[in-house]
Amino acid sequence: MSVSVAPPSLSYELFPPVSRDAEQSVYRSIDLLADTNPDYVSVTYSGSTTRRRQSLELIEHLVQNTKLRPLAHLTCVGESRDSLEILIRHFLALGVRGVLALRGDLPADPHEWRGEFPFARYLIELIREVEVQHSAALAGGRLGVGVAAYPIQHPESPSYEHDIEVLLGKERAGANYAITQVYFRPEDYRQLVTAARKAGVSIPLIPGVIPLNSLRRLERVSHMAGVAPDPILAHALESASDESERHQIGVRWAVDLARAAFDDGAPGLHLYTFNDHAGSLDVIDKLQLPRTRTRVANTWATHSIH
Ligand code: FAD
Repeated sequence: MSVSVAPPSLSYELFPPVSRDAEQSVYRSIDLLADTNPDYVSVTYSGSTTRRRQSLELIEHLVQNTKLRPLAHLTCVGESRDSLEILIRHFLALGVRGVLALRGDLPADPHEWRGEFPFARYLIELIREVEVQHSAALAGGRLGVGVAAYPIQHPESPSYEHDIEVLLGKERAGANYAITQVYFRPEDYRQLVTAARKAGVSIPLIPGVIPLNSLRRLERVSHMAGVAPDPILAHALESASDESERHQIGVRWAVDLARAAFDDGAPGLHLYTFNDHAGSLDVIDKLQLPRTRTRVANTWATHSIH
């Protein structure tokens, strides 16, 4: 029997629905995405107290009504040390076993409270502290702690090298893997992996990819991420004649980025869905990824002793 390498991981990012109507549409998208057997589904965390509560509600929905494994984003921004600790314990009690530890997007108003921890590294350390106290409940196991990584220099960062040092610091603080910020050119991911490995970063670096189906969304995403929109993609989306053509352009771009990242050794794929299942499902369909759970079940059935 030959032992095959692990198939690439697959995950999706969702954000909490803003209204009851949107909620039904997100639940439908979740059901459709669940059919692709993802390894985990991440839920963003940001904005007002109401928006953050909606994130917690979406995580509860995933835990209580689906078989999906949630990955809870958690941000230093807008939280005290105590509130973060309460949230980590809440996730543990719910059965959540993955947290994405982030500094968070800064509030637009510089006078607004930014939170007690200035950097994601402190949150990772807190998660590990709380985890130790719950070691029995975790059966001695650990939480999977993810962090953000930047193929394009972080807008507040003095240099690309600084970003890599920060990533290394997050690994040393206890991060298990990183998911990348959006990027538009295959060489951006390649450059990140090369620089990070050279600096001693050893955790998996999972490319974060978005199928973008409109110029407006491309501009919004680029603004949020602090990166320039790719001019070729922008032009293609702008000159497309209808929605269907824009959809195809976005899917093709995302598929090309994912294929290139796999060629560069990416261990998985994280799709930013924008709560829109159609683009992500088409990307997965075109990539024809081998799915872990099916593969393991088949292998076991073939090789088990009768
Ligand atoms: P950090 O790693 O703490 O870095 C923040 C800044 O501080 C960087 O410029 C870094 O260079 C600098 N820095 C870090 N440590 C030091 C140090 N010791 N000394 C000096 N400078 C330092 N935002 C949300 O609000 N909610 C979300 O749900 C969310 N989800 C995301 C998911 C992914 C996959 C990604 C990639 C990003 C996400 N973001 C989210 C955005 C993220 O919060 C922002 O990019 C934020 O600006 C930085 O977060 P970070 O965790 O990388 O912070």
